[in-house]
Amino acid sequence: MYFVGVDIGGTGIQAGIVNNNGEILFRKECITRVNEGFETIIDDINKLVSELLSENNLDIKEIKSIGFCVPGFINKKGLVTCVNLGWKEVNFIEAIKNKFPEVSVYAENDATVAAVAEAKFGSMKNKDVAVMYTLGTGVGGGIIINERPFTGAHGVGSEIGHTIIGENYYNCNCGSNGCLETFCSATAIIKYAQKLIEEGNKSIILDMADNNIENINAKMVFDAFRENDFVAVETINRFKNYLAKAMGSMINTLDPDIISIGGGVSRASDIILNDIKDLVRKYIVYKNEEFADIVCATLGADAGIIGAAFLQ
Ligand SMILES: [Zn+2]
Repeated sequence: MYFVGVDIGGTGIQAGIVNNNGEILFRKECITRVNEGFETIIDDINKLVSELLSENNLDIKEIKSIGFCVPGFINKKGLVTCVNLGWKEVNFIEAIKNKFPEVSVYAENDATVAAVAEAKFGSMKNKDVAVMYTLGTGVGGGIIINERPFTGAHGVGSEIGHTIIGENYYNCNCGSNGCLETFCSATAIIKYAQKLIEEGNKSIILDMADNNIENINAKMVFDAFRENDFVAVETINRFKNYLAKAMGSMINTLDPDIISIGGGVSRASDIILNDIKDLVRKYIVYKNEEFADIVCATLGADAGIIGAAFLQ
């Protein structure tokens, strides 16, 4: 049997046929026609998956399930809300089931899906209690217990990015102040470096950004950190300290076997992982006991397709 995983993003939709070992055998993609509305996207997904099967001489009967990775929130009733797709409580699962009545259909939030993939085939394999932080434009998260994503009694849990870990100088998109996302996302890193430069601190980051503060990205800040640039060192140390606070709180609450860091920011894994356990230890209660390994994700962008394929 094979599995189909579909990763729906704000600009593109990627589908893959995945085997039992989590290997993507065939893949196909199309653009996300956000402005054409929900029905058009459902039709496009139907066409994409049907063509992916027929082009590779596969019959729908050979597919065990179709899973979806969506950039939004799925409530207990299965209704999907994705702000950047313009979806508000749409009945996504039912719409897809109507197109593929022969197979089981599943959908989960993108951060949860990435965690499922890492737990099954990547950095968190064979661990009973695993937590993943996805550090990108925002901060997402997934908690996996015995290979199953855990989202709580009402389906609103595992929103690790909105753990409140201190006061911050700007508010989170969710309306709160002090969310992890406002300290540890790529956006947070960029904003803090910009703030220090605007306050008059000299930095090579500005040279990297062609003297336009708006051009600064997170990679520049990490690159400048390697050059011992003051602004970069301040920014990255602050980022790491708050990440350690969040992980320490997570360990105090859940005591996972492993914590994995994914998302674009994790490309600077050497800088992030260096001394992170010593930083985290400052915030945990039982300092002399063993606690979670902290690693970086290994599946990269494929985690969306692979994790979606193995939703159940
Ligand atoms: Zn928030």
